[in-house]
Amino acid sequence: MITVNEAIDLVVRNTERLGHEMIGLSASVGRILAEDIVADMDIPPFDRSQMDGYAVRSIDTVDAPVELELVGESAAGRGWHKTLGAGEAVAIMTGAPVPAGADSVQKIELTRANEEIGSRIQILESTRSGQHIVSAGTEIGKGETIFRSGEAITANMIAPLASFGYSRVKVGSMPRVAILGTGSEIVEIEETPGRDQIRNSNSVMLEALARRVGAVTKILPNAKDDLSALQAQIKAAAADSDVLILTGGVSVGKYDLTKAAIGDLGAEIFFERVRLKPGKPAVFARLNETLVFALPGNPVSAAVTFHLFVRPSLLILQGTKSFEPRTGHAIASGDVRAARERDTYLPARLTSDTEGRLIAKQLKWHGSSDFVGFSQAEALILVDRGTTVNSGEVVRIEYL
Ligand code: AMP
Ligand code: MG
Repeated sequence: MITVNEAIDLVVRNTERLGHEMIGLSASVGRILAEDIVADMDIPPFDRSQMDGYAVRSIDTVDAPVELELVGESAAGRGWHKTLGAGEAVAIMTGAPVPAGADSVQKIELTRANEEIGSRIQILESTRSGQHIVSAGTEIGKGETIFRSGEAITANMIAPLASFGYSRVKVGSMPRVAILGTGSEIVEIEETPGRDQIRNSNSVMLEALARRVGAVTKILPNAKDDLSALQAQIKAAAADSDVLILTGGVSVGKYDLTKAAIGDLGAEIFFERVRLKPGKPAVFARLNETLVFALPGNPVSAAVTFHLFVRPSLLILQGTKSFEPRTGHAIASGDVRAARERDTYLPARLTSDTEGRLIAKQLKWHGSSDFVGFSQAEALILVDRGTTVNSGEVVRIEYL
């Protein structure tokens, strides 16, 4: 049986990025850049005032309070484009260009004036050269690369993209993901389960998880535990999707037919068992051009194996350069024990103690079918097979 890291490696090596498309900036958050973003101008484009006040020569204010002659006004969008001489001041507003000759701005609160051009104003405190001025190009210089292809676009990146004229950006195409739940006991959410039946919670959960990382999803009608019907549904689903996610029927029970169905269709199987708890029977395969993930039916196992294997694949398809989950360390609250033979991922909630340390507390849950317990999880605690981490010791965590 392969380890989790070996399995992730197989996913990474067998996932190739899709194409790209141009999209409007306002719809781009969460998408992966497929071009480098280059500043087409200096920011600020001119020496800019940070304050409402008066642009002056600092040398003229050394003996403040001093009187200067008001010779003009520089407003945002309408600057004063002469050169300030000795003994002169120009009224200036936040965001306006500082005139040539001036090397500082005194804020309005430290001045006294009647704002009439030609009048004399008072500068009450001396200024320092450079005071309240952001020089041209200090934030970013024209031609600098500010973001690189492969980075995920965040809301914080939108303003710089807009400032450099990117009304549209080139991003990786969204993977088309088909989701097929299997199991003769499964009914649709809208239905009232009959005797021995349960509702399909996996398909919509996987849809939500896939959308969160940028996929376009399609949920297919559930498949019954019938080999030939299942095969036909898998074939049809794979035909027009980049990724097919199946759940259920991957274990060794009499009616676990998913693996046989994929195999008989001629899929190349990359792995079909991982040294992992929960989620040991997870399968990764390729059927023609479609990547196929067959995840266990237990909702928690399905969520954990999505997180470990499907998520990186969906990100790589979009051209990401960082598909690794966010990891960290925390102090275990309570003992956490791994399975003897399998690396174990335990759902946990995170808090902090009075000393500001991060605390991970394993959720009270009833095993890999307990989706109500799992719904509170913020992270997974990683425990190496055959080991126990005692309460108070440091554990590794992966944020969900
Ligand atoms: P299986 O992997 O088919 O053996 O299923 C394992 C467990 O997960 C069984 O208790 C199933 O009833 C349950 N299960 C399978 N598919 C789903 C689903 N789509 N939604 C909720 N539970 C499921
Ligand atoms: Mg089943």
